[in-house]
Amino acid sequence: MRVLKYIEPRRVEIGEMPQPTIGAGEVLVRVQACGVCATDVKTFMRGHPHIGAGAVLGHEMTGVIVEAQAPGWRIGERVVVAPYVPCGDCLYCARGQFTLCQNFFDASAEPGGFSELLRVPPRLAQKGLLRLPDEIDFTLGTLVEPMACALHGLDALALKRGESLLIIGDGPMGLIQAILARALGASPIVIAGMTPGRLALAARYAGRVVNVAETKLQNEIKTLTNGAGMDKVIVSVGQAQVAEDAFPLVRRGGIINFFAGLPNGSRISIDPNRVHYDQITLIGTFGFAPSHFARALKVLTRNAAEFRNLITLTVPLDGLEKAFLDSARYEGIKTVAVMGET
Ligand SMILES: [Zn+2]
Ligand SMILES: [Zn+2]
Repeated sequence: MRVLKYIEPRRVEIGEMPQPTIGAGEVLVRVQACGVCATDVKTFMRGHPHIGAGAVLGHEMTGVIVEAQAPGWRIGERVVVAPYVPCGDCLYCARGQFTLCQNFFDASAEPGGFSELLRVPPRLAQKGLLRLPDEIDFTLGTLVEPMACALHGLDALALKRGESLLIIGDGPMGLIQAILARALGASPIVIAGMTPGRLALAARYAGRVVNVAETKLQNEIKTLTNGAGMDKVIVSVGQAQVAEDAFPLVRRGGIINFFAGLPNGSRISIDPNRVHYDQITLIGTFGFAPSHFARALKVLTRNAAEFRNLITLTVPLDGLEKAFLDSARYEGIKTVAVMGET
């Protein structure tokens, strides 16, 4: 079967791999579409400590079951495949902190989403597969995974109706967060970014967009909130300076979520009295639990048209290399690789 292999930074190749075979409890999925995630783009551009030559990237996958040995699944069913699910047995799973699962990545779909076929291991077949409703096509269904991550991030902020939210970052994640936060009743929603094309779309979902290349965000927030700061802030840009600069933007008693991962070795400096006297809370969220994944599909189904706006390009497997380079230059919003029908 054909796959897209990661070779080294800035190099991928279309290659052949033997078709995966499945055993008891597993299903085989013919991949129809797989979204390009910021993680894929970062790996392509700079490499990744855990990803070696020959690896197949891609984890936002939809497809059709072509072989089934797992209870409850039949050939021909249209599915979205989670890249991981918690084990249910470890210390963290026992405490309901599923995204800290010690065995999170033990059961993943092989070889990866930018491929023709996927072997879905038993744990994923049990807890990480969802049927796509008829109205969600394969391309749109790839948004379930990033939406699940965004829902986890917003849940952790305990966002309430009428609370103000600042989203720092105008990438696909920031825009997904804005659509979800609006549905949750957050108001006003402010998106800060520096890509005019993305900010133009962001303006549909946020009450205010701030181009930080032109305007000082701190001044904007001060004016907007009469000096108080925002109720909640989510940092969806993986840069230490941006994370550090988020602290003066949250109000006393507010919450900041470090949603984006930062490069290894990053350090930030903060005024500890913002935590003590101002009682602000700093949290982080990573990934999603199966409950977020299921909710994401429901929300997507109800708001399909809004989310479809985020998919600005579909490409075949051999168009991905260019798509990675374009994404790294912040062109377009979300790119989806389409292997079968759309
Ligand atoms: Zn992703
Ligand atoms: Zn676990």
